[in-house]
Amino acid sequence: MQVSILPNNDRQNAWLEILPPLPESNVLVDDLSFDHVVVGGGYGGLSAARRLAELLPDASIALVEADRIGNNAAGRCSGFIIDHAHNIRAKGFADDTENAKRGIELNRAGLDWLRAIVQEHNIDCDWRDEGKIHGAASEKGEAMLAGFAESLDAVDEDYTMLDAAELKRRFGTSFYTSGMLTPYSATCQPAALAIGLARTLPNNVTVFESSPVRSVDYGPPHVLRTSRGSVTSPSMILAANGFGEGFGFFTKSLIPLITWGSMTRVLTADEIERLGGLDNYAIIPAHPAGTTVRRIPEGRILIRNQYTYSANSEAMQGRDKITKVHRKSFENRYPMLKDVEFEYTWGGALSLSRNGAGVCGEVAPGVHATMAYQGTGMAKGAVSGRYLAELMVGEDPPLRQLLTSGTTPSRNFPDPFNRWGVTLNSRWRRAQAGVEE
Ligand SMILES: Cc1cc2nc3c(=O)[nH]c(=O)nc-3n(C[C@H](O)[C@H](O)[C@H](O)COP(=O)(O)OP(=O)(O)OC[C@H]3O[C@@H](n4cnc5c(N)ncnc54)[C@H](O)[C@@H]3O)c2cc1C
Repeated sequence: MQVSILPNNDRQNAWLEILPPLPESNVLVDDLSFDHVVVGGGYGGLSAARRLAELLPDASIALVEADRIGNNAAGRCSGFIIDHAHNIRAKGFADDTENAKRGIELNRAGLDWLRAIVQEHNIDCDWRDEGKIHGAASEKGEAMLAGFAESLDAVDEDYTMLDAAELKRRFGTSFYTSGMLTPYSATCQPAALAIGLARTLPNNVTVFESSPVRSVDYGPPHVLRTSRGSVTSPSMILAANGFGEGFGFFTKSLIPLITWGSMTRVLTADEIERLGGLDNYAIIPAHPAGTTVRRIPEGRILIRNQYTYSANSEAMQGRDKITKVHRKSFENRYPMLKDVEFEYTWGGALSLSRNGAGVCGEVAPGVHATMAYQGTGMAKGAVSGRYLAELMVGEDPPLRQLLTSGTTPSRNFPDPFNRWGVTLNSRWRRAQAGVEE
């Protein structure tokens, strides 16, 4: 079968562009055989390849990536390795306290494993165990924080409330009225992390980049073809996330979304003085449709918001409109930096399911898959890739069931209703977010 959706990224991803230039790709140009082949070099694929290689040191493993590792969603994301549910809801998060606790345990398993890899291999990715701050700027945002605090109380989780003066001291802006620090999450430079994870894979993994898989003859053995070579293997791991449906699995069951980031140029010394505050921080919005902000030590500020629907996970269309909203969000927060332009604006593909179920298991004979992390793919992608590899060698970590909720992604409404539904929902949430956007 032909793979029906292929990644098509620009080079507007700030996280990658501010790193030193990459060496040439190792492109797949021969017809090769491996014991296992992993498709996709995001957190899911990198983790599955690593764990499988650790468990099966004599097996040969190929990881085939369409683009450069670091120019995918893994390297385009905002770099929050999150332990809690992403969306804060006044109700719901801790309605089922046992399940909520296990969900946190699952994300922490991913976070802790990533941290251990970063430490063991000295991956230079600005990893910081400083938690995350949920920032509110309106009564609505504050009500959301209060609801979140109640939920955290119900599951015995630590947090510290921060008042407006403390937030001004940290962030330099008076925009935020209230905040909540939850201490366990970590942040990093996501492109540097993804590249570092790929470079430190065990020796029995061969990484091919700039090698989109264009067709697959499913077996086993499976034959995966790129435009210049092929991999034949009895075992395939599909970790293509937003592009997974293009391989013929979970057709019309994954919701393809793009979310967007912009990053400023480097602030001048004068601008840094005008702004004040710490030279590094990470703010998660109190409202799920609000704005993520990061200030990074390089003297740049990142803004992330908005979700758009794209049936083929295309992350370039409509960028001008997106940038205008980012501009407004930036100027609302940083009126003293009105003249500071964005140097980069980029999108990245996510994959969600309507019933919240992820994929971590066998999907056809000799085909395993990991995908659909509902937007928190750093921790969840890592743990899902790891557990998938463990499942493949006969283990079954109990928390794996949480990734799939014991089911499969439910079917979407047919298009155009799916597109309309997602678009209307996103507009409604944005309207609800108000000044929090
Ligand atoms: C702007 C933005 C901000 C985000 N912020 C956060 C955050 O702060 N924290 C968090 O946890 N998550 C965040 N996310 C979500 C996170 O990026 C994803 O959940 C995560 O990257 C998913 O990992 P993955 O390995 O499944 O997918 P990906 O990172 O998308 O990797 C899938 C890979 O498959 C490759 N592929 C696809 N088709 C083919 C093919 N035919 N041949 C070969 N390779 C192929 C793709 O090129 C890609 O590299 C954010 C996402 C975006 C876009």
